[in-house]
Amino acid sequence: MTIIDGKKTAAEIRAELKVRAGAFEEKYHRKVGLAVVLIGEDPASEVYVRNKVKACEDAGIRSFSYALPTQATQEEAEALILSLATNEEVDGILVQLPLPRHLNADAILAKIPAEKDVDGFSKENIGALALNGVATVACTPLGVIELLKRYQVPVSGKRAVVLGRSNIVGRPMALLLLNADATVTVCHSKTENLSEICKEADILVAAIGKPKFVTAEMVKEGAVVIDVGINRKEGKLCGDVDFEAVKDKASFITPVPGGVGPMTIAMLLNNTVQAAERRQ
Ligand code: NDP
Repeated sequence: MTIIDGKKTAAEIRAELKVRAGAFEEKYHRKVGLAVVLIGEDPASEVYVRNKVKACEDAGIRSFSYALPTQATQEEAEALILSLATNEEVDGILVQLPLPRHLNADAILAKIPAEKDVDGFSKENIGALALNGVATVACTPLGVIELLKRYQVPVSGKRAVVLGRSNIVGRPMALLLLNADATVTVCHSKTENLSEICKEADILVAAIGKPKFVTAEMVKEGAVVIDVGINRKEGKLCGDVDFEAVKDKASFITPVPGGVGPMTIAMLLNNTVQAAERRQ
């Protein structure tokens, strides 16, 4: 059994991206730029934004931080995004979610042009992913695929089961696995016989947000188990997989923390550098 080390892999990717960002700067005489927009005063969001800004700096990416107050209007938020959309120094725009409840998040995100949509949430990018075309893909599922690649886990022809169908994780995850020639089943809260379906998986990706939901009985001997979940149980961080029980059955498994989590920021930086390269 191999424990997939997301922290180490993410550090390697960030070092590679630093080289790419440096080459971009040398060639185009400006840094790759990411605009990070925070609306409201959610403490968790403030931490996420700080981490993203710091990761940018470490990778030689220029970050532009914008903070609007909780009472910002829809018009103010959309006007900010539109100004960033035409700002030549900005290659990527990230709006930290969730937004204050009075704002229409979909309408604000829709103002981000597809080529600056580094989160891969736009209809254009999701459509391109669904058509197996050139797309910017949501960071977390992209991070999972990158882990599978770097650990040389074969995907083509394998039975993959994705638990969860959210727009930011489960759905794009299933499309990425399909595009990589896996035979994919997506399970959700209405799925019948979920345990039996999981047991057929060569690759099982859990992204439902239920602590230790996946037990050893649900996992086939030798399966690759990827745990996207981030949950708190009795004050401790844990995934959607009962790691201790499942690890002896799996051929590869990601821990929580230190598995998929660190890959998400690395993929955000990847998408930003890629957006800059494509724009130029
Ligand atoms: P959502 O709550 O948006 O989606 C959860 C999905 O799981 C839904 O499709 C839901 O089904 C399904 N689900 C919920 N309960 C069950 C159940 N008992 N059986 C089967 N399916 C179920 O969550 P996200 O996709 O945003 O996140 C999932 C997890 O991943 C969370 O723990 C989150 O914290 C974590 N996460 C981790 C990231 C990282 O960087 N590592 C990034 C993003 C998320 P239905 O559609 O029917 O409601």
